[in-house]
Amino acid sequence: MTSFPTPLATDSITSGLGWFSDHAEALNAGTTDGDSLVPQLGRQALFRIGVPQALGGAGGTTFDALEAIAAVAERSLTAAFVFWGQRTFIEYLLQSPNAGLRERWLPALLAGEFAGATGLSNAMKFLSGIESIQIAATPHERGWRLNGHLPWVTNLRKAGFVVAAAVAPDNGAAPAVVAFTDRLPGVRRSADLDLVALRASNTAAIAIDAVEIGPEDVIHPDARTFCPHVRPAFLSLQLGMSIGLARAALQTARTLGKGAHDVLLPRAETVANELGSVVGSVREGLATERFRSDPAALFRIRIRLAEIVQVALGLELDATGGRAYLLDHNRDFARRWLEAAFVPVITPSLTQLQGELAKHAGTCAA
Ligand SMILES: Cc1cc2nc3c(=O)[nH]c(=O)nc-3n(C[C@H](O)[C@H](O)[C@H](O)COP(=O)(O)OP(=O)(O)OC[C@H]3O[C@@H](n4cnc5c(N)ncnc54)[C@H](O)[C@@H]3O)c2cc1C
Repeated sequence: MTSFPTPLATDSITSGLGWFSDHAEALNAGTTDGDSLVPQLGRQALFRIGVPQALGGAGGTTFDALEAIAAVAERSLTAAFVFWGQRTFIEYLLQSPNAGLRERWLPALLAGEFAGATGLSNAMKFLSGIESIQIAATPHERGWRLNGHLPWVTNLRKAGFVVAAAVAPDNGAAPAVVAFTDRLPGVRRSADLDLVALRASNTAAIAIDAVEIGPEDVIHPDARTFCPHVRPAFLSLQLGMSIGLARAALQTARTLGKGAHDVLLPRAETVANELGSVVGSVREGLATERFRSDPAALFRIRIRLAEIVQVALGLELDATGGRAYLLDHNRDFARRWLEAAFVPVITPSLTQLQGELAKHAGTCAA
């Protein structure tokens, strides 16, 4: 029988998350300062979860970090998404062979004093054959000169950020994964994108014009090695967002369903049980590292969880009834409905994963 590492106490994660509930509406609408999110998450020591103590973390596992993201997502998906971006950048540093880069950035990122953003959708789509790498790297003195564009990146704090991106050398070398900051000449952040939700997430585009970096800024020299290696953590941490949203919707459906709608309760119980069992599979897959050798298993979980989010929100709507349409009623349902629209499109999108599974099935059949 597999024995799992002891998870960090849930109470120690959830106490102190009231700020995220109180600000969920304003974070979604963008009427509160998005720059406050990273320091707020840092003050709760959330970025340290699942990071070795020897590196300044709180110890624990990637699954603990996923649970912390889920706990925040139950309250605010905007906050959970920013948490995911920062924690995923931290994961890149943990898995990078570049110890100097890790030592340079980790302390400020763990403390929430500086923002780390992941622009690796492009690399993940590149690996699936959907997109070419959007930043060109030309050898220059002791490093590279970069030119290109990242159309969507979250957690680009106006106070400053470091971002991870894949770059394609124009001398035919393998695409690499690098980090650069907005402080370098030639890096230009756009205004915030005009999103329908998650508006305080500091999501913007970055133009990269003759930006010079050196070997000290390379996270990994080969994106084709690094991205599949980091993908189980990248995807699993993302699952925290779906899990938190589904838990919040089911909890509301069960609470309201106790009254006039007790026909809903058995359906909510069934979905909650399935959610619990899928979360158990994620925990088991991370503990045994099964997702490294069997990425398709994780892809199927991501697709199933996205479906569970939709069903859970449907139950919350059924249980709430017409009040869900009233502006002066509790706005949680309306907010979650829009937040949830993001779940299928975040890279890797559901269609991308379905394409990967079809390719995988074709290879197995062949
Ligand atoms: C609010 C928000 C925040 C974001 N933050 C970040 C971030 O922090 N970092 C980051 O890197 N990216 C980020 N993204 C980008 C995001 O994850 C997608 O990469 C982005 O939405 C661009 O892809 P697209 O949906 O325009 O896909 P398109 O390339 O236009 O494709 C449309 C759809 O078809 C699918 N598709 C296209 N070709 C194929 C194919 N051959 N096989 C199967 N499916 C295919 C795509 O996956 C997508 O679902 C963000 C997006 C949003 C909406």
